[in-house]
Amino acid sequence: MAEIRLADPSGFCFGVKRAVDGVYEKLSSGRPIYTYGPIVHNETVVSDLENRGVKVIEDKETLIGTDFEPDSCVIIRAHGIGRDIYSILEEKGCEVDDFTCPFVKRIHDIVLEESGKGRNIVIVGNPAHPEVIGICGWCDGPVTVVRDEKEAESLEISGEITIVAQTTFQHKKFTQIVEIINEKGYNANVVNTICSATKDRQDAAEVLSRSADAMIVIGGSASSNTRRLYEIASANCPNTVCVQKPEDLKEYKLPESVKLIGITAGASTPQNIIEEVQKYVRGIDF
Ligand code: SF4
Repeated sequence: MAEIRLADPSGFCFGVKRAVDGVYEKLSSGRPIYTYGPIVHNETVVSDLENRGVKVIEDKETLIGTDFEPDSCVIIRAHGIGRDIYSILEEKGCEVDDFTCPFVKRIHDIVLEESGKGRNIVIVGNPAHPEVIGICGWCDGPVTVVRDEKEAESLEISGEITIVAQTTFQHKKFTQIVEIINEKGYNANVVNTICSATKDRQDAAEVLSRSADAMIVIGGSASSNTRRLYEIASANCPNTVCVQKPEDLKEYKLPESVKLIGITAGASTPQNIIEEVQKYVRGIDF
């Protein structure tokens, strides 16, 4: 029987766990519950919550068009939201339960303060990501999102700038982008706002996948940090699969020579799914 080893850390990060636990706790109130965006990039969790009556407001336009039942509560996920969304929620008279991750809230505070001083804000990240959209909504002046080295090279801003990062951005890539911007002669105030939860999971996956004969990455298809874990693991270990739930392993076939099976999970994968996959793998007849 092959040894099964779980990467440490893996699975839910602090901010996502806090938000998901918050929704489950709120369910006991019996009130109409909404989340602004899916609470986590994990279809199993989101559909479980939907089955319990939680509704997802997909975007700003949907929010504007929603007629809330009396006593409705809207839960803000760890990614956070911009000030415009808080204003709409206030106008609609909804109670807001805010589970913006404190590490994301810190970025909101930084960009608000720095843009208030007249500095241009540069966010290194994905402009389409809800966290980045939320951060833009806290800037009181010009804001530019730079997603890669090419965009950094073509950056043209007049005046002083403050640079922050999307919390899940790759550390090495952030450093390279900052170097490019600095070489352009800007007087940049750089605040590295990358959260260590992502890097810690990537480092653990890197170490484990170097010695494993097979790797299982657990996470949702929409989760960018799960995709990154898969890239890291498959670069070191060709026998790597990505699954969302134990049943996805039905077709999983491995040679008898496999001695160590490594398991890792994205920051949006709950503990119970990790345990179910471990249990399933223990039951596979290799
Ligand atoms: S990855 Fe970091 S910043 Fe993002 S929710 Fe988790 S703990 Fe918060």
